[in-house]
Amino acid sequence: MTLLTFRFAPSPNGELHLGHAYSALLNQKMAAQTGGRLLLRIEDIDVTRCTPEFEAGIFRDLEWLGLHWELPVRRQSEHFAEYREVLERLIAEELVYPAFMSRGEIRAFIAETGGRDWPRDPDGVPLYPPLDKHLPVQERKRRIADNVPFAWRLDVEAAMARVTASLSWVEFTDETMSATRAIEAQPRAWGDVIVARRDIPTSYHLAVVVDDALQGVSHVVRGQDLYSATGVQCLLQQLLGLPQPRYFHHRLILGADGRKLSKSFKDTGLASLSEAGMSPQDVRRLVGF
Ligand code: GLU
Repeated sequence: MTLLTFRFAPSPNGELHLGHAYSALLNQKMAAQTGGRLLLRIEDIDVTRCTPEFEAGIFRDLEWLGLHWELPVRRQSEHFAEYREVLERLIAEELVYPAFMSRGEIRAFIAETGGRDWPRDPDGVPLYPPLDKHLPVQERKRRIADNVPFAWRLDVEAAMARVTASLSWVEFTDETMSATRAIEAQPRAWGDVIVARRDIPTSYHLAVVVDDALQGVSHVVRGQDLYSATGVQCLLQQLLGLPQPRYFHHRLILGADGRKLSKSFKDTGLASLSEAGMSPQDVRRLVGF
């Protein structure tokens, strides 16, 4: 029987907090219960926000918590060439297009056309107006040659037209993994999402599906906040012919005010809790282990 493979995949753009501790410990527990493997992946494609200090903090905090993972650790910033190859395939298949509108232009366009009724993605961000999809090839080339900033966006309609099998994923109903249900993927809810930047040949969605496949991840255990993003990831998996892991989106650890924890909340950061005298055992108890 092949071993189940789990992963914890933090981004070094801030300090780990109680929410990360819960996610990491749950992955470790589920891997242990099933005799599976646990991988650690550093998701540092955003070179402007990720720092070596935050990365060092991730290792320090996870070791302190008592997490054990298999080596090697995959650091995404070391694999841009692999993502570029995949991006080139999407470009060649005309599933992505260079999108040139700046944030200000997007705002202005939306204000002129729809205002309040303009559709928003599940995170509340207005969908990208897919105008550049229709730019003549010559004009695209001219702008790129002129160094006009752009991002590669998925043409979600073109992508959906390629989908042949049902677009859904398998979600465990709880952490015991005793029951599953099929969830219909709804990638259109995100509009034409960014798949890569001009200078960085990937985005979160692209890197995550490529890496989960490359690393043989069979079980993705992560926070409920990524539940609907899974729809986009399913679509990419199908377009790229990648195997699909099973998913469990766990509850989020909320702050005292009932809000999602953020990387800037000092009081729930693992480093500050440890400095304040908390033990790893206290943290485990605090998040319900
Ligand atoms: N790197 C993402 C984060 O820190 C998690 C990605 C995932 O688990 O798919 O939020």
